[in-house]
Amino acid sequence: MDASAQTPLISEDVLVSAARRLKEVVVGIDLGTTFSLAAYMEGGRPQVVRDEKGDALVPSVVSFTESGKVLVGWEARARSLLDPQNTIYSVKRLIGRGRDDLQRELSLLPYAIENAERKLVRIRIRENRLTPQEVSAMILKEVKRRAERALEGPITRAVITVPAYFDDAQRQATRDAGRIAGLDVLRIINEPTAASLAYGLDQKKNKGIVAVYDLGGGTFDISVLRLAGGVFQVLSTLGDTFLGGDDFDRRLMDLAAREIREKHGLDVLEHPRLLQALRDTAEKAKIILSKETSAPMVLQSEDPPIDYARTLTRTEMEGRIGDLVQRTLDFCCTAVHDAGLTMGRIDEVVLVGGSTRIPLVRRRVEEVFGRPPHTDLNPDEVVALGAAVQAQILSGGFQDMMVLDVTPLSLGIETFGGAMSKLILRNTPIPCRKSESFTTFVEGQTSVDIHVLQGEREMARDCRSLGKWKLRGIPPMAAGMPRLSVTFTLDANGVLTVNAREERSGQELNVEVAPSSGLTPEEVERLVKESIDHAREDVRTRQKVELRNEVDSIRRHTERALSQAGERCPAELRRSIESGLRTLTASAESDADLHELEQAIDRFNEISLPLARLLMDEVAQATLKDKKLSEI
Ligand code: ADP
Ligand code: MG
Repeated sequence: MDASAQTPLISEDVLVSAARRLKEVVVGIDLGTTFSLAAYMEGGRPQVVRDEKGDALVPSVVSFTESGKVLVGWEARARSLLDPQNTIYSVKRLIGRGRDDLQRELSLLPYAIENAERKLVRIRIRENRLTPQEVSAMILKEVKRRAERALEGPITRAVITVPAYFDDAQRQATRDAGRIAGLDVLRIINEPTAASLAYGLDQKKNKGIVAVYDLGGGTFDISVLRLAGGVFQVLSTLGDTFLGGDDFDRRLMDLAAREIREKHGLDVLEHPRLLQALRDTAEKAKIILSKETSAPMVLQSEDPPIDYARTLTRTEMEGRIGDLVQRTLDFCCTAVHDAGLTMGRIDEVVLVGGSTRIPLVRRRVEEVFGRPPHTDLNPDEVVALGAAVQAQILSGGFQDMMVLDVTPLSLGIETFGGAMSKLILRNTPIPCRKSESFTTFVEGQTSVDIHVLQGEREMARDCRSLGKWKLRGIPPMAAGMPRLSVTFTLDANGVLTVNAREERSGQELNVEVAPSSGLTPEEVERLVKESIDHAREDVRTRQKVELRNEVDSIRRHTERALSQAGERCPAELRRSIESGLRTLTASAESDADLHELEQAIDRFNEISLPLARLLMDEVAQATLKDKKLSEI
């Protein structure tokens, strides 16, 4: 054969760009509610991208000036209280969400939000109407620009993190934001998973339960993860989307505003410029108090005349924020409980978010979990660092070594008798693909229903239906003749594609099970929990059956032993054994729980012990009787 015919053709452009891509760094990006930043791998360790001043954090704020300039980052943040209508912060609260889900947000955000098509929202700023994706893209672009400057080269690929509770729509919208910013988003990963990766928990232990406590600027999240074989699974996630460092600042601002009102008879809240300055001094004091035991709070102005300065002690601040910190701890207890665990089962605690620098927070977290949390990495950088680790895994081509995402629920199709036939099992690392062959059971059947299901239970009716499609055009054949091969492909983002093909006729069906028909994280959790609950029930039933069998055999043995012992068994012992046996049998037949039944068995064994001894001695003597002394 002509060798050249076998040589695949490849354009040089492709080769050059492939080479460039190989060398190009893939960054990890933490797109936060209050701060965003990027990180990358260097010399086998993740590093955050810093600017000339050494700052890593970019405030997630975008401001539109009167002259038409768009500011992103610190400059924008400086205007958030000064020009609130034209400055967008906390856009992460809006991304991928419909107006109906946003009642609470709408009343708290100062910028104007409009309804848009497909139940989405747009933010109206001056003459612009922007989607949350576009605003997030502006932040991402700034993060990308800084990374390109620091790394001296173009950045086109990234891993972006999202909270564990983000649903499909929110993840998809975040991915779109990346695309708008000119980034090929290789993967969207959970923030708590990223934080655990940054600490190398996947390598160090490879097994265990990790609690990730994340207290940022505007939100609090607690996630309980199970780590097994390098795979993290979110067992429970909980939090308050309106609880964070901003609330601590507000408590200090309230204090100062009250004192200023008393001293100057003036309401700071009515002066945006003063309010902005007050927030800055309050936050600064809070940050200083993480290191020092006292800090100044100062507000000075000529017009209106204000001369306010006071010293705030750490103890004073702790008194002002203690109840908020307590609320986060209550969430922790609930999340651990939701995961079906107790505090003692938590192997590792990881602190995430700038607000976990506060000594009170660290102290209380340690008390509640009963173990010191990981604090070696900067809590506001740890998510980005972990995203960089994941980026490296994805770009380095050694995906096989460590797979981090798993499918939370099994996927399959309905088969004969309403059974759920699972193709992809829960906790299978993704991406993955699985095929199975089926056939028909009706004579001359020309179409089959492909009913795609998700869930852990054995019957289709107990699982969630993801959709039903018909594969038509099968030529009439005898039952059992058609060969139907069904392939499930689950991509890295959890999007399922189903292909069904009748091999003899070549008829084929291809459907993508749209993410919108996927499950919310709460639903996934509920379903998994349900299956675990049932598993427990099943195990309990089985154990009970086993214990009843044991009681049965005890009864038979005892009765035999009693008749064997005959007269040699003292009447009193016989009576107590007989009554003990009745009690035991009764409790085996009752609704007694497993533990009670076990105890009843133990109690009876004690009662019957003298009889056992008696018979044993007899056996021993019988054996000894025929033996010569020398043989003993
Ligand atoms: P995000 O909400 O975007 O995840 P971060 O995790 O970066 O944000 O947390 C930002 C919050 O952390 C802000 O409220 C900031 O004031 C607070 N913060 C940062 N450093 C400190 C510190 N040293 N002490 C107390 N709070 C801090
Ligand atoms: Mg964060």
